Amino acid sequence: MTSARAAKAVMLKLAEPAQLATLATSDQLNRTETYVPGWVVRGALANAWLTQHAVRTRTGRFDLEPDQRKQFVSLFEGNVRFSPLYAGGQLPVPLSVFGHKHEDADLSHRFDAAHEDDFTHPEVCPVDQCRQRIEGKRGLAATPSVVTRSSVVVGQDGTAVKGLLFSRASLDPRGGDTTFTGVIEGPSDLLGVLTSLSHVRIGGRRTAQGGAAVNFEELTQTPEPDVLKNGTLLLRLVAPAIFVDDQGRSLPHPSEAELSRVLGQQATVAKAWSRWERIGGWHVASGLPKHTELAVCAGSTFAISPGGHGSFDRDKVISLLGRGLGLRRHEGFGHLRQSPFAVKTQLSEGNSMLKETTL
Ligand SMILES: [Zn+2]
Repeated sequence: MTSARAAKAVMLKLAEPAQLATLATSDQLNRTETYVPGWVVRGALANAWLTQHAVRTRTGRFDLEPDQRKQFVSLFEGNVRFSPLYAGGQLPVPLSVFGHKHEDADLSHRFDAAHEDDFTHPEVCPVDQCRQRIEGKRGLAATPSVVTRSSVVVGQDGTAVKGLLFSRASLDPRGGDTTFTGVIEGPSDLLGVLTSLSHVRIGGRRTAQGGAAVNFEELTQTPEPDVLKNGTLLLRLVAPAIFVDDQGRSLPHPSEAELSRVLGQQATVAKAWSRWERIGGWHVASGLPKHTELAVCAGSTFAISPGGHGSFDRDKVISLLGRGLGLRRHEGFGHLRQSPFAVKTQLSEGNSMLKETTL
């Protein structure tokens, strides 16, 4: 593949309820994710591509010609990256953001410790000396509506088992914003193949639900590095990421070896705001839970110092933003925010604790 790399915006609009796999639990509720993980996007597009291009044999498997197989592998096993899709395109809140413990709908006293000297945060709110208790913020800025339906468990004799109920949560296409947006990135000829797809099925119970329209648009924004005045680079995950050290042990931040290799100079992690998350799900074909992977969650934020070198090479940073970080990137892990993040703190005159976060 010699085609230049490019990126397209992906828009997915639910037409039917969808249940997106989350970790298997022992209670009677099947939950759903409230965003579309990158690996779900990849699986849905792979299935749509197969439905359009390949012949399904009587055993249910898809029959592919050798050059079709080659294209399938290029599309879904290495050359294209699928970001998560978020409702209304609202990315997760960075973990370096702090705010009132009880803030209701008023987000005006939030601040970002990644923009503070020494990356520290005070115990109480420094804005206007209001001194309310503060805590780290995280999660999704916008969540789509979810419906939960309960049913009885049907036993082997075909009748309801007394006292056994189970519930299934699904994203509801009738409520709120059910357009999810994200990015695909890869060689432009391969992106051209994917952008011809227009209908996908996502999540579990695909014969009955999960139907969605998908379309692709040119990206209007080009990646813009988030660099502090002293040359420190801020990287923020918008997808879970898998980081390991040289021995394969899990790390809560990207390894300095990976950062230094991609950035082409010494790079050290000056500060990490991160949380562990277990990623699991259901293998649709077998109906069994997948093995779980230990990942660092979306929203994790890292301050990367160039040490004595002063600053990072801008072109290398931009290519890092397109490449992502960590392992299994082609499966939907390790996507980075493509532009600087700033909280909209309402500053009073003369408050020196907080600074404007423009570059
Ligand atoms: Zn406050």
